[in-house]
Formats: sequence, structure tokens, C-alpha cells
Amino acid sequence: MKYKKKKYDVAIIGGGISGIMAALRLNEKQPGASIILIEKGASLDKRKCPMIINKTGVCSDCNSCAIMEGVAGAGAFSDGKYVISTEYGGWLPDFLSHKMVIDYIEQADAILVENGATTERYDPDNELKKLCLKHDLHMQQAQLKHLGTDSNFDTMCKLVDKIDNKIEIITRTEVVDVDKDTHTLSMDDGEQITADAIIFAIGRAGSRSFADWCRKNDIGLSNNQVDIGVRVELPSSIWEHFSKKIYEPKIWYRSNQYGDTTRMFCFNERGNVVMENTDGVMTVNGHSYRGEERKTQNSNFALLSTIRFTQPFKNPIEYARYVASLANLISGGSILVQRLGDLELGRRTNEKRLKQSTTRPTLDVVPGDLSLCMPKRQLDNILETIHALDIIAQGTANHDTLLYGVECKYYSSRPDANDFELAGTKGIYAIGDGAGFTRSLSHAAAHGLYIADKIVNS
Ligand SMILES: Cc1cc2nc3c(=O)[nH]c(=O)nc-3n(C[C@H](O)[C@H](O)[C@H](O)COP(=O)(O)OP(=O)(O)OC[C@H]3O[C@@H](n4cnc5c(N)ncnc54)[C@H](O)[C@@H]3O)c2cc1C
Repeated sequence: MKYKKKKYDVAIIGGGISGIMAALRLNEKQPGASIILIEKGASLDKRKCPMIINKTGVCSDCNSCAIMEGVAGAGAFSDGKYVISTEYGGWLPDFLSHKMVIDYIEQADAILVENGATTERYDPDNELKKLCLKHDLHMQQAQLKHLGTDSNFDTMCKLVDKIDNKIEIITRTEVVDVDKDTHTLSMDDGEQITADAIIFAIGRAGSRSFADWCRKNDIGLSNNQVDIGVRVELPSSIWEHFSKKIYEPKIWYRSNQYGDTTRMFCFNERGNVVMENTDGVMTVNGHSYRGEERKTQNSNFALLSTIRFTQPFKNPIEYARYVASLANLISGGSILVQRLGDLELGRRTNEKRLKQSTTRPTLDVVPGDLSLCMPKRQLDNILETIHALDIIAQGTANHDTLLYGVECKYYSSRPDANDFELAGTKGIYAIGDGAGFTRSLSHAAAHGLYIADKIVNS
């Protein structure tokens, strides 16, 4: 039988880092409790993306995206940058004290280290911050670890092995409904179970259906922000003076033209640009490996312009999806790459021009024209920011700097809740990225541990 029981003490929906950490802590504190974790995607060893295996460059639009969904969640193939700070990475400090958030991040880090993660940390650098400030650029400071895509994956495998026989893990199964009064979970296989406590740990991949569920159950939602932009790829030497010292420069800039904020982040030293399927839309991201043999000559980073909508528009996620879909449409289901020089000259990058580029792309996608799909305001912000960054890292604005689009970061709608217990419910909680409380591995992991402690102590 697929499910061992009909009734559980705790049901966790989603097997990303927040769900796994919650399961781990619950099992550690209450070894006798019956815990089930239900994950829409595959188990870690079966998470294989056909686009990557077959090197097609075109998304097969699988029922469940192996990159974003499956045990270990969206972070499974990530670069594994682990932020030890409350300056960025999520909004937990709006609900818990900074000290408490850091304490939980450290607890989660200790668990990762026990399971093979590096102990090496990069410290903030005040000299670089000063250099940025001189040019009206603002660098966010944090202690950071770089687990690396390869070793992050190994650590996640070990973590899952640790809980595998102690809690029930069901994969390739989506929770399609939860009755908030009877605590009945309905799955897409037609089965139903109940649980005293339920944790939604659904990540960005599940945020749209979670928001629909909240609306259906009269649970208020708030969100008005979205970040849209490009992934910038250039020779690694250009940002080496930053990356060698702090690993990840996270810098924001306020544009003169509109006063909008544009952020440089998600830096991957000597990494690869990758394509991902975000809930049916192809977008861009980046990876970098710890192993020398897998490193490239290029570094890449996200450069995204933040938009905050005002009344009456309330659907920033749909807006971002729309813009990204336009890039998918004109690239025949893929994403676009354009040289900065071509974009500024108002012409398309074609195969011939891309071949002439001295920066060789690490991702094989369609050369094209980003100005045909990116809104002018965001494109202007991005170009102005590239030139501002060029002052502190000369060469950022080179003709052959590659821009991949569209990259967007959606922030899931945040449900009304009291200490993460959903409004109007008893014992139903929401954690992690999918509920708009976090946007990083470390904060999502910390959130999982926090909610487990809360359930144990309630
Ligand atoms: C390519 C990439 C690189 C990244 N790199 C970094 C990085 O270097 N550092 C960093 O801090 N952050 C990084 N992030 C972000 C980080 O991965 C997330 O912040 C983190 O994974 C959030 O954890 P989570 O548990 O909230 O959600 P997720 O990891 O998204 O997990 C949620 C899980 O729930 C499942 N699910 C959703 N709905 C249902 C349902 N109805 N039924 C059953 N299962 C469901 C999903 O399939 C998914 O596996 C990266 C993200 C991506 C995509």
C-alpha cells in the first residue's frame, strides 16, 4: 500500500529544504511521532531533466519539472550559496528577532556540515563596500558559504537518507486539496489522509496553487513586488577582485532615470548559465560547481529591476510570467541571448554575431533581441546599472557581455497568518519560499526548523 496509515501526527507538503529540515527536527524531538512528507516531484536519484540529458536546449515541459520539483526542492541543483545574515535572504526578521533568525540559520548550517557541507565562510569586506559607495552603488554585506552545486547535492542526498526510514516520504504525488476544518489532505492519486498538523512547504513551484487554495478558503494574501531582468555573463576576471574576497557581490543601484532599484545578485564564479522551467515558463538562472574540472572561464549574475505595483493591479507574478513567456514565444520555446553591444546598437544578435563574440556562451540558446520582449523601463534600468557597475568592475559593459533573458524572481503571495499558522485555521502552517516568507536556502532551512520546534512545543 502506498500510504502506511490513514492518520498522521504531522503531514508536510513539499520536500524542499524547508520541508526536509522540518521533518528532521520533528523526528529528532519526537521520534515516536508519525510524520509523512508528500512531494510532487521525483526522489533525488530520479530527478533527471530531459533537456539537460539530451542537450536539446528546449524544455520538454514535463508534468513535474525535475529542476524545480522533487525531493530537495528548487535548491537540489543550486549553486548552494548559504547566506548567514538577516540582511537578505527573506523576510523572517519581520516576524522573528534577528538573533533568533541567525540562531536558526546556524542550527541549519550545523546540520548541513554534519552531512558533508563545507565549513569555509566568506566574510564581508568593508573596503569593497566603500568602493561601491563612492559610485552610488550599495553592497549588501553577509557572511556566506559556497557549498557548490555538486557538494550541495551530495549533502542533500545524505540528509534525505537520514530521515528516509524514520518518516514516510511519498514522491511523485501532489497534494491537490486540504480541508482546513477536517485536516484531510487529498492527493492526485485519489487517496486521502488526515494529520493533526499540516505544513505547507510548497516552494515557488507550488505558490500559485497555494494562493488559489488560500483564496478558496478566505485566507487573505499580500504581494506587490516582482523582479525582472537578465542574467549577465562575462569573463570571470572582470569581477575577480570581488569574488575572490567575498564570493558573492550583492549590489543594488538606484537608477537616475526612474529612481527604480536594480539588483545584482546570484553571482556564480566560473559557472554556467542554466535554463529553468518556472511553472511552465522558461527562465534563466546560474550555477557554479566547486570541483575545478567543472568550472568555466565565465562568471554570471542576475541583474533584476524591482517593480512594486500599486492599485488596482494585484498580480505581479502573472506580469512576470507574461514578460518571460514573450521571450519564450520569440525564441521558439527557449530563451534569448544578446550581446550588450548589439542591444545598445538596436540590432539583433544573430548566429554570426554570436560566433564573433569573445565571451563564449555557456548555455546554448537562441540569439535574439531582448528589446522585443522586455519592457522599456526595466531594460533602461538594466543598461544604466551595467554602466554603473562598469566603474567598479571595468569590462562589465563590454560589447561582448552576454545578456540572457528573461530572468525573473517572483515572490510568492504571503498568506495572513499568526506566527505562520494560517488565519482561520488550527494547526495548518505555511513556511519557506512558497508562502513568501523566505527567498534563500538558509532562511527556508531555518524556517523549517523553527516551525518544527513550534509544533513540538504547542
Ligand atoms: C536554480 C536555482 C538556484 C538557486 N540557488 C540558490 C543559492 O545558491 N542560494 C540560495 O540561498 N538560494 C538559491 N535558490 C533558491 C532556493 O533554492 C530556495 O530559496 C529554496 O529552495 C526554498 O526552499 P523551500 O523548501 O521553501 O521550497 P522548494 O525548495 O521550492 O521546495 C518546495 C517543494 O514542494 C513541492 N511541492 C509544491 N507543491 C506541492 C504540492 N501541492 N504537493 C506536493 N509537493 C509540492 C515542490 O515540488 C518542491 O520540491 C536557487 C533556486 C534555484 C531554482
